[in-house]
Amino acid sequence: MGRRAPGAFLADLIWPPRSLLSDQIVERPGVIEAEAWRGLHFLTDPLCAQCGFPLPDDVGAMGVCAACAADAPGYERARAALSYDDVSSRLVLDLKRGGRRDGLPVFASWMASAAGALIQDADLIAPVPMHWTRLAARTFNQAAWLAQALARHAGKPWAPAALVRTKRRRSQGGLSASERRRNVGGAIRARAKLVAGRRVLVVDDVMTTGATLEACARALRKAGAGGVDAVTLTRVVRPVDVLI
Ligand SMILES: [Zn+2]
Repeated sequence: MGRRAPGAFLADLIWPPRSLLSDQIVERPGVIEAEAWRGLHFLTDPLCAQCGFPLPDDVGAMGVCAACAADAPGYERARAALSYDDVSSRLVLDLKRGGRRDGLPVFASWMASAAGALIQDADLIAPVPMHWTRLAARTFNQAAWLAQALARHAGKPWAPAALVRTKRRRSQGGLSASERRRNVGGAIRARAKLVAGRRVLVVDDVMTTGATLEACARALRKAGAGGVDAVTLTRVVRPVDVLI
């Protein structure tokens, strides 16, 4: 048995650590058993240099995808740890709907690997904001948890108040790309006092069409941010409908 964190035994008396992907009891929190681990699809090079979308092998390391070539995103670079699919969606839903926090340190390490240079270049790590009425009903913002875990992992400042959602919009689930852009447009502001002249790394749980990250990037630039990158735990790589 490996070394265990102080207090782990006490935690076991209350609730034994459970795999992040099944009901199996595991040695310590944040562990995933081998079979379930093989079901996770980590996103690796070659990726679009801008949005991080997986590219065919024959494209050079600095290639961009067709979507970015046609219309460059408002952020400079976006990366994601995992493809959003039937397996990784369980991690997201447990976090978002279940408020399950034991995976956060491991998610932070995956996001840090995916983000690479984006982390070193960042002055601040800021979550995609949630409207205060939604936050009051839900009690937590999973993007803020992820951003905080990543900031801790990377030793960078966490700025939970850098971005604010000024209008409550309907949930993005079931909306098309253009509907999502319209839905989120103008609903996010950045606090110039916190972000002016700083390079900001925006964090979210899922990147779907990129509309939310676009809105954050636009707000940050308007507030004078020195640069904007983004990292998410997962991203949709196929045009699937994400009902979250
Ligand atoms: Zn791209």
